[in-house]
Amino acid sequence: SKLSALEKLRSEYDDKRKLAVIERCKPFTLSDAQLNQVCGSMMRALKDGLRQSRRDRSSVKCYPTYVRTLPTGKERGNFLALDLGGTNFRVLHVEIGPDGQLKQDSKIYAVPASVMTGRGESLFSHLVDCIEHFAKERGLRGVPLGFTFSFPCRQEGLARGRLVRWTKGFACEGVEGRDVGGMLQEALDRRPGIDVEVKAVINDTTGTLVSKAWDRRNASVGVIVGTGFNVCYVEKASRVGGMEGEAGRTKEGRAEEGTMVVNTEMGAFGEKGELEGVRTEFDRVVDAASIHPGEHVLEKLVSGMYLGELVRVVLLGLREEGLVFEGRRCLQLREKGSVPTKYVSEIESDGPHHRVMAREILEEVGVSEPTVHDCATVRYVCRAVSRRAAHLAAAAVAAVARRVERSPVVAAVDGSLFRHHPHFARIMQEKTQQLLGPGTEVELCLSEDGSGRGAALVAASVR
Ligand code: BGC
Ligand code: MG
Repeated sequence: SKLSALEKLRSEYDDKRKLAVIERCKPFTLSDAQLNQVCGSMMRALKDGLRQSRRDRSSVKCYPTYVRTLPTGKERGNFLALDLGGTNFRVLHVEIGPDGQLKQDSKIYAVPASVMTGRGESLFSHLVDCIEHFAKERGLRGVPLGFTFSFPCRQEGLARGRLVRWTKGFACEGVEGRDVGGMLQEALDRRPGIDVEVKAVINDTTGTLVSKAWDRRNASVGVIVGTGFNVCYVEKASRVGGMEGEAGRTKEGRAEEGTMVVNTEMGAFGEKGELEGVRTEFDRVVDAASIHPGEHVLEKLVSGMYLGELVRVVLLGLREEGLVFEGRRCLQLREKGSVPTKYVSEIESDGPHHRVMAREILEEVGVSEPTVHDCATVRYVCRAVSRRAAHLAAAAVAAVARRVERSPVVAAVDGSLFRHHPHFARIMQEKTQQLLGPGTEVELCLSEDGSGRGAALVAASVR
């Protein structure tokens, strides 16, 4: 009975810590009122971003893409595509046969960290090395190329886009402000024997949308929830400012006709302070230690590059308060990047009472002999952080869907988090629908490996 008294004390102690953990994680739960408010503020930011004269005021820039039509199904030919800016760098060969059958073959190449943060010239010559290797292996010559470049760009035409700034883990010198389509073309032209023409520079959200539209003609929104976060959609061209003239007018002053895909760069939402009521002290720590502090605020609450890091920072905070990992030093957990977002997905994939992954992963990051309370806490933190991410992503898609003015809104979604997290896609779908209300149906559909294929399809449309 002496033992059981001790056990009782122990469990009371654990209960208290559990309640304290729940209390500390509360700021990650966003009420429907909060989410509606965020969604409304996103809608205003979108509207301002579309108008050339108000764009400076808006955190959401709504860049025109010059992609005016989605695939018709009549595209034919052989194309190369590059996909840069996510977890992997890929080179693709896309072949659309006379019968409209689409075949695709691709290869993943590494982009060494030294290249991601090195000189711009080295980045582009590395890209050309990979294209050269790929094209030689497959005997391709004189093939047009579509370039999926997943960073904010001010487009000056379909094949010209100036990088506004790097995001995620990239920070190459001497590229910001320059036309990346032109830089790639010059690097290609310097290399003898390749003969490749850059036909289009597009964002990965655009690629994902275009690729889905090949099979589903009514798709009108593209979303990436991967390393980064972003949304694009089809807008009336007359509403898109910042092309040649002001507010959707041509050089001659006529209203633009037809449609255009708009790259919202929604990940930057919050840069004008719109998320200060939502961000936690932990978010501020993650932002301050990132490569681009103060930038792409929403992306840091939502995307795969940051969620694991956020979990790590929360856990360290809880440990400092004596709420978890008692008596362990947690040396590895102190290192930035020691909890990749993949772990978050794995931990949440465990059944509710099986804490196999949590235990394994904790041991991997240096928390020896984790207790049941430790494992439960880690899981709770992962859940809090990833639910908030899915809810904020939903608010962004709902804000964009409201501009689309049709039902159903079919959104093509890709990205590692959306694809691999066990609950993210479902939670995001449910919340998007709830925020939109009963008048508009929304359907988020996975568009696997679409961003590269989409660049080929866009290149095919300009032949
Ligand atoms: C970039 C976007 C991109 C998104 C997803 C963001 O960091 O700014 O252009 O679409 O990541 O890859
Ligand atoms: Mg920067």
